[in-house]
Amino acid sequence: MGFGIYIHIPYCIQKCRYCDFTTLPLNHKMGMERYADLILQEFQARHTLFVGRKVRSIYFGGGTPSLLPLQDMGRILAQIRSAGFDLSELEETTLEINPGTIDQNRLDQYLVLGINRFSVGVQTFSDQRLKLVGREHTVNATQSDLALLKKAGVAYSVDFLFGLPGQGLSEFQDDLAQFVAWDPPHLSAYNLTVPKGHPLDRQRAPDGDQALMFDLLSEALSKIGVHRYELSNYARTGFEGVHNSLYWNDAEYLGLGVSAHSYLKTEKSPNGVRFWNSPSLRLYQDQVERSTPSDPFVTLPKNQYEVLQDHEALTDFCHTQLRKVAGLSWAALEDKFGHDTRQRVEKRLSEVPDSGLFKQSENGFSLSNQGFKIANQMFLHFTFLKSDLM
Ligand code: SF4
Repeated sequence: MGFGIYIHIPYCIQKCRYCDFTTLPLNHKMGMERYADLILQEFQARHTLFVGRKVRSIYFGGGTPSLLPLQDMGRILAQIRSAGFDLSELEETTLEINPGTIDQNRLDQYLVLGINRFSVGVQTFSDQRLKLVGREHTVNATQSDLALLKKAGVAYSVDFLFGLPGQGLSEFQDDLAQFVAWDPPHLSAYNLTVPKGHPLDRQRAPDGDQALMFDLLSEALSKIGVHRYELSNYARTGFEGVHNSLYWNDAEYLGLGVSAHSYLKTEKSPNGVRFWNSPSLRLYQDQVERSTPSDPFVTLPKNQYEVLQDHEALTDFCHTQLRKVAGLSWAALEDKFGHDTRQRVEKRLSEVPDSGLFKQSENGFSLSNQGFKIANQMFLHFTFLKSDLM
């Protein structure tokens, strides 16, 4: 299946009020050039863990990776390309961009660097709501960036954030109409998630209306040929995101940069090993500077490294597969865990109280529209404890 490489670029112009990603202010004392050096050093130490695999996707996420100087992005891509991996199946190199951070010249240079997909943090077409949630861009900036991408004819995705404070159904529908009017080949939709008591957790539409927003969204997008293929993701056929699909299909990935996560299967650990970088830049720097290709984990403490046990691997597998509209494949499950495990999962499926919450076929099962609305509750039915597998 191959693997994906994720590169976390944490710098942002300002911190959005709902954001819980690892970010750094633009004027942080560690400049981006030095941060890129650390990424190169980390890649140098860890890429050998993935030797013999094919690279399927490269993804610059953040933060705001479109703030990274082109020269540093070029250095990172050049190092990946010269590491000896088979790149014959590299389908997608994605860059997340925030509106207002690109122009024609920069876009041309990204294309020269081999970036072939852009994920745009649009969020909403309301200047008032953008301001409310602390986004620093304007609707004008969004429109000119989307126009640039459309004119260039490149693949792109837009992020749509809804369920915002003060946003009722009618305003949501106005916003949705603007997204639809851009006819995006791919859209990721997120209902605003903030903890109870958060300043943005006020005057939000009732739960029933928020569920209805998802229905309206799916309906409107499907009318323009953009279909849901995952819990939060919609695409025109052929424009589904390769990188995230690797996550949902139990593929391996190497995450580089502060707070980035990796997943690797080895002969000793066929269930998979997860390891992750600290969200603290100081710790990340310290660990990267001490790691070497001969011992890439030498500096990772136990709380940044996990060999998955059977019940954890099965739980992860079920949850990620059920995020997809295509659902869980019995063949893939049996291939990884064997026939007995399939029977355990079938038993759990038979215990779900309402059969309208999922769809079954001889190849597997998936969540229905109703099931997707309560996906987190559905995942509980397919969560396994160690004692469940004894
Ligand atoms: S631009 Fe994205 S990563 Fe940066 S603060 Fe806002 S939500 Fe967080």
